[in-house]
Amino acid sequence: MIPMVDLKGQYQALRNELDAAIQEVLESTSYILGPNVQAFEKEAAAYLGVAHAISVSSGTDALHLALRAAGIGPGDQVVVPAFTFIATAEAVCHVGAEPVFADVDSETFNLGPESLEAAIGERTRAIIPVHLFGLPADMEAILEIARRRDLLVIEDCAQSFGATFEGRQTGTFGIAGCFSFFPSKNLGAFGDGGLVTTDSDAMADALLALRNHGSRTRYYHDLIGYNSRLDEVQAAVLRVKLPHLEAFNQGRRRAALRYDERLADATVKRPTGTAAGRHVYHQYTLLSEHRDRIMSRLKEAEIASAIYYPVPLHRQKAFAGHDSHPPLPVSESLSRRCLSLPMFPELDDAQITEIAAIVRAAA
Ligand SMILES: *Cc1c(COP(=O)(O)O)cnc(C)c1O
Repeated sequence: MIPMVDLKGQYQALRNELDAAIQEVLESTSYILGPNVQAFEKEAAAYLGVAHAISVSSGTDALHLALRAAGIGPGDQVVVPAFTFIATAEAVCHVGAEPVFADVDSETFNLGPESLEAAIGERTRAIIPVHLFGLPADMEAILEIARRRDLLVIEDCAQSFGATFEGRQTGTFGIAGCFSFFPSKNLGAFGDGGLVTTDSDAMADALLALRNHGSRTRYYHDLIGYNSRLDEVQAAVLRVKLPHLEAFNQGRRRAALRYDERLADATVKRPTGTAAGRHVYHQYTLLSEHRDRIMSRLKEAEIASAIYYPVPLHRQKAFAGHDSHPPLPVSESLSRRCLSLPMFPELDDAQITEIAAIVRAAA
């Protein structure tokens, strides 16, 4: 049996440290906004190379609060890719703004400059590029468009912790970067969690208030905020894992390279990288006209595979009526052909060889 993600290996390897860190929190009885949250925010900011890192309770909240802190609201439009997880667009709706879908590039699966420009209108205030599957979007092209059209950039880094574009970490290019610590993400907690990065002192100040009931001083509320805090147990877990993130991502890159080698002569389209972006392979996603056959052969061999994402956002029921967007042929075509294979740092060569043999035979 090979699952999409096996979290056991990582837990077992770090078990002593993790158990001790959790035990320490339990005994400290400091469970909310305590020393671990403070320390983790400092350590994450240092790792990413950014002035501020503000933890929140999920990646979805990171996007929501970042949009609110940036002043995006009713009447505003925000451009998001049509091929992503729904949270990217949901957050736009949560602040009362309207998501406008743009198409993605057929090679990188990330926002393409041409479709992005076509989606920008008079009411557009911001762009949310997603570094999908761990591959950084073309931030040079996106920032150039944002500057020229006077738009804010908020990066969705939920799948890209540790990925770099031209040597710089994702999450450091826009006014804010939004990360998720959902357990299966590259840096995963033991529950939900998220982080917003920013170099702007004003954004950081707003985010600190927003995540804690609009409060800067206890029981004095400057604005209507949220209860959106990372808890101390999760922060303690993340502090143990962060120093190992480079090794985790190296493991993913090694597994991807093995897949590339073993699938070199298969009639599937393997994921492509870019010269500027360091891919951290949150997913290893290929394209095939014979997706269903590959999936069922893998299933017969007790190997998991998954479709991320079967329905592009503009085809989701939740977005019925959001019809003013450019044509989205690539997103539609990807959702019909994409297939993600098992991917986690500990995936070994024998497993990859077995998976690749089945894919080759079925493709
Ligand atoms: C996981 C994910 C999110 C949401 O993160 P949560 O922590 O699950 O709320 C947002 N965007 C993308 C692209 C994601 O993959």
